[in-house]
Amino acid sequence: MLSYRRHRAGQGLRSTADIFDAHLGLCVSPLYINGNEEQRKKFVTPLAQGKKIGAMAVTESDAGSDVSSVKTTAVRDGDHYILNGSKIFITNGDVCDTVLVFASIPKLAPRGMTAFIVEKAPRLHGRKEVTIRLE
Ligand SMILES: Cc1cc2nc3c(=O)[nH]c(=O)nc-3n(C[C@H](O)[C@H](O)[C@H](O)COP(=O)(O)OP(=O)(O)OC[C@H]3O[C@@H](n4cnc5c(N)ncnc54)[C@H](O)[C@@H]3O)c2cc1C
Repeated sequence: MLSYRRHRAGQGLRSTADIFDAHLGLCVSPLYINGNEEQRKKFVTPLAQGKKIGAMAVTESDAGSDVSSVKTTAVRDGDHYILNGSKIFITNGDVCDTVLVFASIPKLAPRGMTAFIVEKAPRLHGRKEVTIRLE
């Protein structure tokens, strides 16, 4: 379906297609497939309705194809996790409301890579250069 839409979108709308691809293919679909009912209701519904924009943040300056090199960490602090790291090349990074952030849980290394659902918050910085900093 995506390649059909991409074909129809044509050269002139390539960047629009990329924005839509990232929203739907990298955020909405993985959330729908892997999320539980509560997560689907809370996150997928507004994304699918177009009320929110989604993104996925995997890539870092030293972690591209080799996802296992991701340096962003997730450390448990009571009933939540603190994510620390910096991502680059994130399509929709400067405008997203919901982002799937790949981070490693040091305690579970080397098998602790997890995707966290992060909602737009004052401490999630996205710049036009599509860098996302988490602190
Ligand atoms: C338009 C655009 C949008 C993007 N959007 C996102 C996004 O929304 N979210 C996100 O997380 N990232 C995004 N990225 C980043 C993208 O996913 C990474 O660029 C990609 O993972 C490659 O990483 P890298 O650039 O570090 O290249 P590297 O991993 O350094 O790879 C460089 C080259 O070496 C090749 N290579 C690497 N390892 C091997 C191997 N073992 N065997 C053979 N060849 C190999 C690769 O195929 C590539 O050609 C985007 C990139 C672009 C260009």
